[in-house]
Amino acid sequence: MDRKQFLSRSLKVTVGTFLAGPILATTTGCGDPDTPGNSGPDGSTPPEPGFPPLVLTQVEMPYAYTALEPSIDGMTMEIHYTKHHAGYVKKANAAIGDEGVSVANELDLMGDIGKYSATVRNNVGGTWNHNLFWEVMAPGGTGMPDGKVLDALNAGFGSFDKFKEVFAEASMKRFGSGWAWLVEQDGKLAIGSTPNQDNPLMDVSEFKGKPLLALDVWEHAYYLKYQNKRDEYVANWWKVVNWDAVAKRLG
Ligand code: MN
Repeated sequence: MDRKQFLSRSLKVTVGTFLAGPILATTTGCGDPDTPGNSGPDGSTPPEPGFPPLVLTQVEMPYAYTALEPSIDGMTMEIHYTKHHAGYVKKANAAIGDEGVSVANELDLMGDIGKYSATVRNNVGGTWNHNLFWEVMAPGGTGMPDGKVLDALNAGFGSFDKFKEVFAEASMKRFGSGWAWLVEQDGKLAIGSTPNQDNPLMDVSEFKGKPLLALDVWEHAYYLKYQNKRDEYVANWWKVVNWDAVAKRLG
């Protein structure tokens, strides 16, 4: 192709691109008196405009994979973070793009998650839940909760030991895969569990509230070290709970 042909072709491409704008706008009903409302060419409602595409992120692991040993072994942590959690984040973002999800932020999306597919629900939940899970653990734990957290636990459950008992029971009673939660509901603390990757911020969840503490009771969280002994995993998990993180979340 000589220079003249190249310029000629470039011009055609430019003109074609320019023309595509107004033509597209007409087919989506903008300013077209023959097209009622804002419906798309197939009569569907287009996504609400105004929100930039939502991109969920995986938090950086705040400590080494081996840092929670012996409560949680390094290989479990590494697979959990790099395979399971990273997989949820990747699939969540792909599904958000594929399904044209248009929302202001992650919290709004979870509050309205019932409107979307199971793929969006499971992977957005998987992304958010694990981001919280890493945050509420710390190497060696932070010891006994104190201050406003201890006061709230005592007020809600009678004592710290009673709280642990009820939380462990919720962890054990969750059949199959899911999560146990400590949440704040109207200024009071409550314990519950959710199946799969649901969480208490989701409109579809029977158990609702503002999550303060979360425990992953999927087998992938403990099976390499504990096999079927979820009770031992829960008992050892208390040693790595980050109560400072819980205090920050408590309003
Ligand atoms: Mn998990």
